[in-house]
Amino acid sequence: MSQLIDYRRDQELALIGLCSAPVNALGHALREALADACTIAANDPQVRAIVLYGQQLPFSAGADIGEFGGPLTWQAPALPDLLPALARLGKPLIAAIDGVALGGGLELALICSHRVAVASARLGLPEVTLGVIPGAGGTQRLPRLIGVEAALEMMLGGQPISARRGHELGLIDCLVEHSDDLLAQACTYTRQLLADSIGNDAPARTHRPAPISPPTATFFDEQNAQLAARKTGQHAPQAVLDAVRAACELELTQGLAHEQALFREALEHPQAKALRYQFFARNEALKIPGIDRSTPLRDINQVAVIGAGTMGGGIAMNFINAGIAVTVLELSSQALDRGLAQIRQNYETSRKRGKISQVQLEQRMALLTGTLEYADLADADLVIEAVFENLGVKQNVFRTLDEVCKPGAILASNTSTLDVDQIAAVTRRPQDVVGLHFFSPANVMRLLEVVRGKATAPDVLATTLKVARRIDKLPVVSGVCFGFIGNRMLEPYAREAHRLVLEGATPGQVDAVLTGLGLAMGVFAMYDLAGIDIGYQVRQARRDELAHDPSYFRLADELCTLGRHGQKTGRGFYHYQGRERLEDPEVVEIAEHLAAELGIERRTISDKEIHDRCLFMLINEGVQLLDEGIALRSGDIDLVWTNGYGFPAWRGGPLHYAEQLGLDTVLHGIAHYRQALGAYGQQWLQPAPLLEHLVAHHHTHIAQR
Ligand code: NAD
Repeated sequence: MSQLIDYRRDQELALIGLCSAPVNALGHALREALADACTIAANDPQVRAIVLYGQQLPFSAGADIGEFGGPLTWQAPALPDLLPALARLGKPLIAAIDGVALGGGLELALICSHRVAVASARLGLPEVTLGVIPGAGGTQRLPRLIGVEAALEMMLGGQPISARRGHELGLIDCLVEHSDDLLAQACTYTRQLLADSIGNDAPARTHRPAPISPPTATFFDEQNAQLAARKTGQHAPQAVLDAVRAACELELTQGLAHEQALFREALEHPQAKALRYQFFARNEALKIPGIDRSTPLRDINQVAVIGAGTMGGGIAMNFINAGIAVTVLELSSQALDRGLAQIRQNYETSRKRGKISQVQLEQRMALLTGTLEYADLADADLVIEAVFENLGVKQNVFRTLDEVCKPGAILASNTSTLDVDQIAAVTRRPQDVVGLHFFSPANVMRLLEVVRGKATAPDVLATTLKVARRIDKLPVVSGVCFGFIGNRMLEPYAREAHRLVLEGATPGQVDAVLTGLGLAMGVFAMYDLAGIDIGYQVRQARRDELAHDPSYFRLADELCTLGRHGQKTGRGFYHYQGRERLEDPEVVEIAEHLAAELGIERRTISDKEIHDRCLFMLINEGVQLLDEGIALRSGDIDLVWTNGYGFPAWRGGPLHYAEQLGLDTVLHGIAHYRQALGAYGQQWLQPAPLLEHLVAHHHTHIAQR
């Protein structure tokens, strides 16, 4: 018997334990071993039923994504062939689920006649998040078991549900509270089935041949309309819907064949390639030159946060949620009380939504302490500063931290744009200083830019990466420059958007082009949400540097001066009526007025020009960042933009998108507008030398540099 399977007989039951660490991914070797073990059980006349479980491991996290790489050449037995074969063994199969049953893992559980699970186990069909659909029967068997609506919700959302919820839906037949009891209880449950002779001959509901009924006659039309509105342009969700419709129209065998065709089509789709690229980029991002398993780590048990404003509060919540005690320091008791009250209120909201219990709320608040005294930070292992975005203010904070913090404490700044090296320089321990750039809302957004200063010690970087994962963040390392990876790229992208409005576009037109591409929000809606005054303050510190172009972000500056700070003042680039965002003719008038003052000729702007100028300059800056070594690899840049700036993951990120468009298309586009826009073009639309080099050498991929 393979080492990947633990096969045991317990009287009339065959117990088949899957032992492929760490997550029982259903790669070729495990599939083969599982098929062999099931054949042995089927041929053993003593065996009346088979219990499948993860031997000291999660049940199964699904397919081995490495096998999804090139053209689909799954070594036999492929999962879509293996699973129906198991269903035909003629003996009841019972799945005993702990940990996770995801993707192919859940599809394996679905061919079983019954499912027993630990209440905390997570069940899901997350294939859409990789741009594909369940390809081993999930789209046909899940709706047959729990109904069309619930099945569709699980497959379109891609988010796992708890086994407890699965029990309510009829996906799980028997719940077990503790992992230690799972196998014994699954055996008892199976014996009861045999005694009742249900397991013997009752065909599993998931194998019912007949098509099932949709909830209503118009159900699929309505779903189609919703997808068109909410997931515009996305291939996999549409394929899921088509597959579920097949479950309502076709016999099981035909439905499975249809699912297989849709699955293979999705697998080859550029969107699936982009999402696989994102998946691998997440693993790559943790590989940092100069840091490996031998790099020592510092202990982080006590965290302090300076500033309890928008960011400080959210940052503190991340650590509390992970069970780490946090001390928050503020300037005044009013600011402190306000900050602590806001954190409690956020937890209250979670409690009202049923996400945490009252006990959990109190446990979390008990981990939080407020102070006005730096002396209370003496024991902190990690201090994160989140005070106003002003170099002098931050340097003062770091001078004090240097005085009070214990040796070896990590001192981090949440600055969005300032020079981490200049902040580190005011301390006697620049090796302990690092940037930790959280995104707003800091307790929600997963991205964390970890900014490596020129003196940052390897163990400080390694520790912050480890801590980032402890608080469930996606850390991406950036070097020091204005705005790091994300905000530095935002600048030329947003600059073009602003200039285009002076030249004749409207904010609504620009934003529509960007959301049409799949961005979660257009530039102007985003600035209105973040506050136009915030960007204005950052520019104030750089006026001398930017004086050569009076049109630079001029529209935003003007709106800020007029008190139009965005959503919070009801007016910004748009006019807000409640939650409704409306184009504002006044903004067009302001743009006309500014254009006249600046000598900018207004004209009709095409959507193509908006796309090309905004996107190509975004891409160009990313390529430049790579060349400067600020970003380690193009995947890191793409992760920042898909996780921090709403760039659609199914387009892979700006640089992956550039490769799909063709690097030469991007370069020629920049060159075209550089010429066409006269002095402005000459000043700003400068192709990155690396982009020119790549195109000159006929490279199609940025990684080839
Ligand atoms: P904020 O104005 O909401 O909060 C700042 C807090 O710091 C205030 O409560 C203030 O009382 C306190 N403070 C100021 N000086 C202090 C000092 N010397 N000691 C102790 N407390 C002090 O600002 P914010 O939006 O939370 O931004 C904080 C930092 O985070 C800035 O550097 C900002 O650039 C950065 N950041 C902000 C965002 C965002 O979207 N708001 C995103 C990423 C990073």
